[in-house]
Amino acid sequence: MTILDKFQPLQGAYDAVRAAGQDPFTVCFDAVLSPSEATLKGRRVILLGTNNYLGLTFDGECIESAVEALRQGGTGTTGSRIANGTYDDHAVLERRLAEFYGCRSAMLFSTGYQANLGILSTIAGRGDHILIDADSHASIYDGCRLGQAEVIRFRHNDPDDLARRLNRLKGAPGNRLIVVEGIYSMLGDTAPLAEIAAVKREWGAHLLVDEAHSLGVLGRNGRGLVEQAGVEADVDFIVGTFSKSLGAVGGFCVSDLPDFDVLRIACRPYMFTASLPPSVIASVTRALARIQEEPGLRARLTGNAERFYRGLRAEGFVLGPQAGPIVSIRMPSTEVAIAFWNALLEAGVYLNLALPPATPDNAPLLRSSVSAAHSEAQIGAALAAITAIGRELGVVAAPASRAEP
Ligand code: PMP
Repeated sequence: MTILDKFQPLQGAYDAVRAAGQDPFTVCFDAVLSPSEATLKGRRVILLGTNNYLGLTFDGECIESAVEALRQGGTGTTGSRIANGTYDDHAVLERRLAEFYGCRSAMLFSTGYQANLGILSTIAGRGDHILIDADSHASIYDGCRLGQAEVIRFRHNDPDDLARRLNRLKGAPGNRLIVVEGIYSMLGDTAPLAEIAAVKREWGAHLLVDEAHSLGVLGRNGRGLVEQAGVEADVDFIVGTFSKSLGAVGGFCVSDLPDFDVLRIACRPYMFTASLPPSVIASVTRALARIQEEPGLRARLTGNAERFYRGLRAEGFVLGPQAGPIVSIRMPSTEVAIAFWNALLEAGVYLNLALPPATPDNAPLLRSSVSAAHSEAQIGAALAAITAIGRELGVVAAPASRAEP
């Protein structure tokens, strides 16, 4: 008996996935050549599963800012924000984020995961209730577990179910915090935010929106679903990440609540970890400016995403409910999903294999994330490869055998 024996069922399932081909959880690129291309075992692959929505990982200005900061400020801060790890550039980025969202305050975290972990575990305490969408990201679930509040799940994207659950809490003491995401990371659908904001107002709750996948992607100015839905005044906290549209790593929370900054000395995942290095702060600061200066990036992303979604739908694939930068194809079984994913990699297309229990409805998915950096030719090549393999594996029918409408 060892302490790791309990992982035997997990190890068994993992071995079965690995036996079917390339191990999807240890894909190691030889070189990443651009936001949309890499080499893997000596062969070129199109990157269609990287969350690099605006392609900013190779943006010349972001790279130059990072290099200069690296030379000037060194490789790392070697300390927490509340000790030696706050440089002027951290404070500047927090001000820029607060200005971008029109809020009083912003706090940086070392990852998006930690932003959720820190904010959720700190702002909701013993006696409070957190109401989270059932399809919430692991970092939201983990942030809830780290804190002392009672956690209630409501049905995915169902404001009526949320209202019912708030109604059941009538008379209970404490605060209520509703947590939703702008774009959900697995199926790419958006939250019905106007309706959720109405429920929030009706029940006097607080509202937190995780815009990890929607910052720089949605809204006229790239301020996410909160901007697109016109509910900025109703949202108390926005959490986001630098690891997707901004092309780096790190996370943040912005808020207009006057006392928000007290969290700097209360929030453990902020206080007890090293702060982001100067090079990351510099590239993110530049990337935040780029998304404001260049709305064309967003337009290109939307164009690519719509073309990709429509192309797959026309072939008969079962997709998430909305066109957007995350396009997930529902697979009939885990075995087919694994075979499909391996065949695509062989054909030069990398995307994400998402398996239960990490997926909504326990459905195996092939999850792609489209980028503004994809060329028309790359989108076309990916569509062609997915279609060919989908027909071969019987996921979709070939045109001749399709039933006439
Ligand atoms: N929130 C959501 C909704 C996410 O999808 C993710 C990452 N996939 C995170 C938070 C965590 O972000 P990061 O990877 O930057 O830690």
